[in-house]
Amino acid sequence: MKITAITTMVLGTQWRNLVIVKVETDEGIVGVGECRPINKVDSLVGYLHDVGDRFVVGLDPFDIELLVRRLTIEDYGKPGEIAMSGLAVLEMACWDIMGKALNQPVYRLLGGAVRQQIKAYANGWYTVERTPEEFHAAAQRAVAKGYHALKFDPFGACFYELARKEKLKAVALMEAVRDAVGQDVELLIEMHGRFNPVTAVEMTRALAPYSPAWIEEPVPPANLPALKKVADAVAPLGIPVATGERLHTLHEYRELFELHAADIIQADISHFGGILHTKKLAVWADTYYMLIAPHNVGGPIATAAALHLAACTPNFKIQEHFNDFDEPYVNASAPGNPPVVDGYFDLPKGPGLGITLDEEIVYTHPEQRIHFNLFKEDWHKRKARL
Ligand SMILES: [Mg+2]
Repeated sequence: MKITAITTMVLGTQWRNLVIVKVETDEGIVGVGECRPINKVDSLVGYLHDVGDRFVVGLDPFDIELLVRRLTIEDYGKPGEIAMSGLAVLEMACWDIMGKALNQPVYRLLGGAVRQQIKAYANGWYTVERTPEEFHAAAQRAVAKGYHALKFDPFGACFYELARKEKLKAVALMEAVRDAVGQDVELLIEMHGRFNPVTAVEMTRALAPYSPAWIEEPVPPANLPALKKVADAVAPLGIPVATGERLHTLHEYRELFELHAADIIQADISHFGGILHTKKLAVWADTYYMLIAPHNVGGPIATAAALHLAACTPNFKIQEHFNDFDEPYVNASAPGNPPVVDGYFDLPKGPGLGITLDEEIVYTHPEQRIHFNLFKEDWHKRKARL
């Protein structure tokens, strides 16, 4: 089988653009991949155009390792966010094609299911005013959809430090959400790499009475010894550290593992070279007794890829999911995923990724001019259209 054509398209929403690829083959089997680049949409589309004819058309879609080699080693440079995202969407589409060719769901080609249900957590549920009352009500609406775990960032738009008034506000928001959901629901605290180490530790201690299930990206992603400093300080509180959505290659994880600088890694399949690359990372993490909770801010195709990886990965923890809190046409753009029911996805269906792209919906919701800025007031309302 040979790849004969690659088509890119963009599904626009109010706060994210989803880059979708359709990969066609000489046997008539078509696969799809998807990624949400943070703002850099045209860069990713341009990269896919750049490598498509040179490296991908003519390739057998079963030759995943050759695809990886071509887009990393043979293209020289140093693969980062754009290259590893472009590789990921193409790799995802190849798995979709392989599964369809073999009439199997992707997870059965990667070791088979180790679980029958996949635990989910909700994100994007708090697009309301930043008050305890509105967060309280929004959290109740999220758990009413069946979620047993919610993630949120209560820290506003700060960077490195936080004014005392803002510290108290963050604690008040956490208190309100805990009060809304009761003791059984897991609350995952997103820090978005906002803090210097001492502030991250201070805020973790301040939120500890409300039992956060993890703190995420307490410091920016570049300095792993700084992350280690935070992890050591919060370990006595029994609060795990999660990170990794902004690391894009296996090599970038080496120092994190060697330092034992986190408890949970959060590679994003769609920014990390795809499903097999992330599976390799999960195996490596397991040797450090670390769990993997893949970051996922994608639409239904990236979510499908995440579900297949979750199904077959022993040290998988929990799957991020936004799409129950966005415009319904996002899920409708590629139907086929199991819904979240009582906090869990069922195993994804096949063959392949088990979803079917609806190009009509994509073309009727074109790319939007968006600047999603996590360091601007009210970013959490996710109204990022320019
Ligand atoms: Mg995050």
